[in-house]
Amino acid sequence: METKQFKAESKRLLEMMIHSIYTHKEIFLRELISNASDAIDKLYFKSLTDDKVGLNKDDFAIWITVDKDSRILKISDNGIGMTEEELENNLGTIANSGSLKFKSENKLDDDNQIIGQFGVGFYSAFMVAKKVTVISKAYGSEKAYQWESKGVDGYTITETDKKNVGTEIILEILEDTEDESYSEFLEQYRIKSLIKKYSDYIRFPVKMEVTHSRPVEMSEEDKEAGKTPEYEEYIEVETLNSMTPLWKKNKTELKEEDYKHFYTEKFNDYSEPLRYAHVKNEGTANYNALLYIPAKAPFDFYSKEYEKGLQLYSNGVLIMDKCADLLPDYFSFVKGLVDSEDLSLNISREMLQHDRQLKAISKSIEKTINSELKKMLRNDREKYEEFWKAFGLQLKYGVYSDYGMNKEKLQDLLLFTSSKEKKLVTLEEYVTGMREEQKYIYYATGESVDRIEQLPQTELVKDNGFEILYLTENIDEFVVKTLMKYKEKEFKSVSAEDLGLENTEKQEEIKAKEEENADLLKELAESLDGKVAKVILSHRLKSHPVCLTSEGEISLEMEKVFNSMPTGQKITAQRVLEINPEHEIFTKLQSISTSGDRDKLGKYAKLLYSQALLIEGMAIENPVEFSNLICELM
Ligand code: ADP
Repeated sequence: METKQFKAESKRLLEMMIHSIYTHKEIFLRELISNASDAIDKLYFKSLTDDKVGLNKDDFAIWITVDKDSRILKISDNGIGMTEEELENNLGTIANSGSLKFKSENKLDDDNQIIGQFGVGFYSAFMVAKKVTVISKAYGSEKAYQWESKGVDGYTITETDKKNVGTEIILEILEDTEDESYSEFLEQYRIKSLIKKYSDYIRFPVKMEVTHSRPVEMSEEDKEAGKTPEYEEYIEVETLNSMTPLWKKNKTELKEEDYKHFYTEKFNDYSEPLRYAHVKNEGTANYNALLYIPAKAPFDFYSKEYEKGLQLYSNGVLIMDKCADLLPDYFSFVKGLVDSEDLSLNISREMLQHDRQLKAISKSIEKTINSELKKMLRNDREKYEEFWKAFGLQLKYGVYSDYGMNKEKLQDLLLFTSSKEKKLVTLEEYVTGMREEQKYIYYATGESVDRIEQLPQTELVKDNGFEILYLTENIDEFVVKTLMKYKEKEFKSVSAEDLGLENTEKQEEIKAKEEENADLLKELAESLDGKVAKVILSHRLKSHPVCLTSEGEISLEMEKVFNSMPTGQKITAQRVLEINPEHEIFTKLQSISTSGDRDKLGKYAKLLYSQALLIEGMAIENPVEFSNLICELM
């Protein structure tokens, strides 16, 4: 018989499992029960439309059997079962390699943290068993197969006999060691308490033959003689779980812990959620829902692979694992489930999209999420900022996409770094803090807060004591352009021509100076060979000699963003080189111009333009020429 090797990742996970600390080992039972329940869910769902399944709702169950002498713990289900191929694919590799990926991305060095909170499925069996055997017969298949493994060395798959469709997981429990008593997992009381603790809400009964003892009926004579009764053992089948799904329980019965526990287990997230909501809605849309805001973005969140959606139940029966129609894209990070009695069980995916009931539910859910986020922003700022770090980008996409259709709903959820104290602020906070004479909401763009801080263009606005929003992400400027206004206040880039705070006297003065020096400015522009649309005298610069701005719709920042996209099409902003008329360099330029040395003036123009590019964080076109020019003029 051929022994097959586990895939490399699975092997690592197995090693992690085997060496995990003892207190986490008990979760193996929850993992196996949850797999069994999923398998039953699948067959039960089939049975609703397919008479050939031949089972009624009450026939479905998970059975636990224990044999202390041979140290065997068995978990059986009459769910959908696995074919030979499925045994190979599902148990030979890790279905959910996300856990390992998560680990390497987050540099977690404590394996135990993962195992304890995340759960790692089927493999957890190896934390307590020296040998694991899986016997399974898939629905619709004549043959049954046996998968067997003693851990890292590999596994075998052979054909075997099994009467009914379903799966049996047989664990040969490890011998006790000095510090660890694995025998506990063969004790009925321990199993009962583990099921209560972790698997109480499982929808199908988890049954076990439980041994009780009772006094033997005594004869009247013996009773009178005061004899002590003898006890006899008897066996009774007990259902160990209450079977009420968490979301159907009363909120008052539930603790924060219950919700969080349910989340980490059900949605395979290693971190606790930032917030949850238990919704019981009656009215136009009747449904129960559990909604969670995760703390961290899944590793594939900002990729095409990520699938949004909530689990959809119809009166307790899972009908869809990820119902995308229940969540708008901008809330795609929300995890959770919806259970409604109004939905038909046999509804198909295509029909669901047009279902009025589902539309009503999804509208109501969107409102709930929005208001939960606002509550978090109001009452728990620190948490909200953590949320923002993980998912803020998604909300910004939400504002920008669909031509800004949803901007009103989302604008109060946005945060931007403010020039004051470099803290995150909402637009509301910004506007509330605006000075009376301030007309606009000012923003500046750049690749980091530190860089923006140093931009010469911010000088004038800051000098007026106005707050500036620092936009550091590619999408930010598009967001601001989509919003256009917030509470009647327009957004204004610090590079804009009209900042609304120029003093007219000074402006006139600069205008006059520009006219006086028209030839000089023209010469400068000409020597830059069309790289700039024009050279002007700046009214926004205080101490810096030059800066680069743009005229028209496309800003320099947008140019950078567009050109980093893989579309191939190049877009250039209409660049404007601004020169500080108060700066010594301007006097210098004037004197070169009067001397008629056009060659020298050209060199100065190139240098100043390159400087302006560097300040903007843009590449200079010819670094060697730049360096030579500096040396020459030095
Ligand atoms: P997960 O449950 O997170 O997918 P597991 O390692 O626990 O990962 O299980 C891997 C896969 O093996 C499951 O997705 C399921 O397809 C299959 N499986 C496990 N246990 C059973 C079972 N009792 N009946 C049918 N299929 C099962």
